[in-house]
Amino acid sequence: MQSTMMRTPLNLCHFLERAGQRFGSVEIVSRMPDKSLHRSNYREFHRRARLLAEALQRAGLRKGDRVGTLMWNHYAHFESYFGVIASGGVMHTLNLRLAPADIGFIANHAQDRFLIVDDVLLPLFEQFKALANIEQVIVVPLTGKPVPDGYLDYEAFIGASTGDWDYPESDENDPIAMCYTSGTTGRPKGVVYSHRSQVLHTLSQCLPDSIGLSGRDVILPVVPMFHANAWGIPYAAAMLGTKLVLPGPHLHPDDLLPLMESEKVTVSCGVPTIWLGMAQVLERNPGKWKLQPGIRMMVGGAAVPEALIRSFDRLGMTIIQGWGMTETSPLATVAKPTHTQPDDLSDDDRFATMATQGYAVPLVDLRIMGDDGEQPWDGKAVGEIQVRGPWITADYHDVERSADSFTDDGWLRTGDVAAVGPLGFVKITDRTKDLIKSGGEWISSVDLENAIMGHPAVAEAAVIAVPHPKWSERPLAVVVTKTGATVSSEELRAFVATKFAKWAVPDAFIFVDAIPRTSTGKFLKTRLREQFRDWQWEPPLSNEALLMSVPLAR
Ligand code: ADP
Repeated sequence: MQSTMMRTPLNLCHFLERAGQRFGSVEIVSRMPDKSLHRSNYREFHRRARLLAEALQRAGLRKGDRVGTLMWNHYAHFESYFGVIASGGVMHTLNLRLAPADIGFIANHAQDRFLIVDDVLLPLFEQFKALANIEQVIVVPLTGKPVPDGYLDYEAFIGASTGDWDYPESDENDPIAMCYTSGTTGRPKGVVYSHRSQVLHTLSQCLPDSIGLSGRDVILPVVPMFHANAWGIPYAAAMLGTKLVLPGPHLHPDDLLPLMESEKVTVSCGVPTIWLGMAQVLERNPGKWKLQPGIRMMVGGAAVPEALIRSFDRLGMTIIQGWGMTETSPLATVAKPTHTQPDDLSDDDRFATMATQGYAVPLVDLRIMGDDGEQPWDGKAVGEIQVRGPWITADYHDVERSADSFTDDGWLRTGDVAAVGPLGFVKITDRTKDLIKSGGEWISSVDLENAIMGHPAVAEAAVIAVPHPKWSERPLAVVVTKTGATVSSEELRAFVATKFAKWAVPDAFIFVDAIPRTSTGKFLKTRLREQFRDWQWEPPLSNEALLMSVPLAR
């Protein structure tokens, strides 16, 4: 017997057509480099994305050709997300925060034939163009200035299309987009997505117990469109017809907050560092901005400190933590209190739940693998998170498959270390490379950072392992205080000591003006480790004190 169901392939262009048919009048608002607002809608988005698809084919794009983009979040990037895919090309978002040599390496490795670039980013392109073989460069004239000779003007490029065009043949497993990992822990590697992977990811992401997006929302993605598909927001927005508010290059809280107010934003998303800054600005200016009640913020990319979740809760805003990576499209888990927990969850338990990385979303399988095999979901046993599912990569583009990344039985090794509780909530303790091994015991840098960031005077904290002659490694905390606040090392040590065993408390607290960031806004711990590699532990650690409390190496 066979099923009687149609085998209609899953295809992202269905969302483009649906958006044009159903949501034509819904707005797409973009902030331009000069801070003016550009207003468009889904009717225009649909029309122009199709014109772009036609123009790319006219320019010689063959199925599977890579089209790089070097752009901020705005209407033309959104159009490109769909126009490139509709043309049969592969949308390759380049991360403009990387060093030019790295962008050049990535554009070359991906073999980008075309590039769509913001005019304001042309100086960056000039710095890496010799490293890549880009044949045609299409410039988006965001500033309205004439496009320099030798480059195509995006408006003229799509303006020459007739609109008499139809989609090329495609299969749901065709490549449609690619992203490179941001290289926090190694050389960037390319992940290639398909129609099928992104359609399923979008559906799962929008479920109420997942991120829970709706056409009634107004979404402001702070996460760049050049990072991990902007967490799938462009696809979800088109599917649902959700009003989009795109912040362009202006990502400071002083720029975001007025935009959130004026455009009535209900959902936003970005890495914790964005929200750490915003919480401070909001606390310093109570009532200054009239934001929508119950605003939700999807936060991921790094662990979200519980203190931050509590700060926003006091402001009437809800943080929803998600976990994932470029390799997982990226959404793999979401943290929301669930119906399997008691109805009368205390505030402490609710916040503790929201501070986990959450449960796997439907269609993602997740397991914890320790040295002695798969670990039980008892909230205690720790191991590496391994995942499997329709939007999890099974390989890297043009890189030899290695046992460091994939298991023999076909799971992705994430390099994140976690325990899973009986209800399926994942609690990450660290990235394998960030764990601190002191006297034979593992110390979680994430737990320490969260605790330190719980101190009212602390804005940000990163904890790293620093070599130590006796204990092999000891934790060192790098701390940024809130504007106008002061706190001493002794106070912080005493504060952390109430929550951790004595041997886990950092031996040094270093106060700095800013913690270096990765290209995607995470704490750049590799740089900190280099900076403090030769740190002299002074005053010398009291061996007696440590010996009393450190479980000796096994
Ligand atoms: P990179 O690997 O270069 O940092 P990604 O953006 O793909 O680029 O990062 C994925 C990693 O980010 C995960 O493996 C994990 O270590 C970290 N991460 C993502 N979300 C969370 C979260 N909610 N809590 C803790 N770590 C997270």
